Amino acid sequence: MTAVRCPFCRENDDKVVDSRTGEDGAAIRRRRECLACGRRFTTYERIDEQGLVVCKRDGTREPFDRPKLRAGIERAATGRLDEHAIDALAVEVEEQLRAQGGEVGSDRIGLIVLEQLRALDHVAYLRFASVYKGFEDLADFEREVVELQKTTEPKRRLPS
Ligand SMILES: [Zn+2]
Repeated sequence: MTAVRCPFCRENDDKVVDSRTGEDGAAIRRRRECLACGRRFTTYERIDEQGLVVCKRDGTREPFDRPKLRAGIERAATGRLDEHAIDALAVEVEEQLRAQGGEVGSDRIGLIVLEQLRALDHVAYLRFASVYKGFEDLADFEREVVELQKTTEPKRRLPS
């Protein structure tokens, strides 16, 4: 993500305060705040539709499918994150994938989503993990919850 010249004061120093996919899904709309003058403006960036290929577990390849990624996140996050947060997460994941470029394993996509959800909402994280990791029974969930507590609440609620 690169800085954009401020349309008000011409400084080239801003931070992104909000990102979401545009209506047609082909552009990313960003709200930016100029760090020099404090004013806000919006940019639209065309998403590069070329070049991101997903390599699936069975070895087949398919073009990256944005609606599919968002649907997967939405299934896990329904009732936990609002539409806006789901959009922002999908954009973030896609940007990480595009930064790596070329070809990306479907496993890798799942891991990136998990990393993001872990920080956002533990229920959505567990739902996503249950699909991604193929949980089969309660013990799988319990193990994952213990892992979550280890990483997020060190040395507090763990039995000695
Ligand atoms: Zn400015």
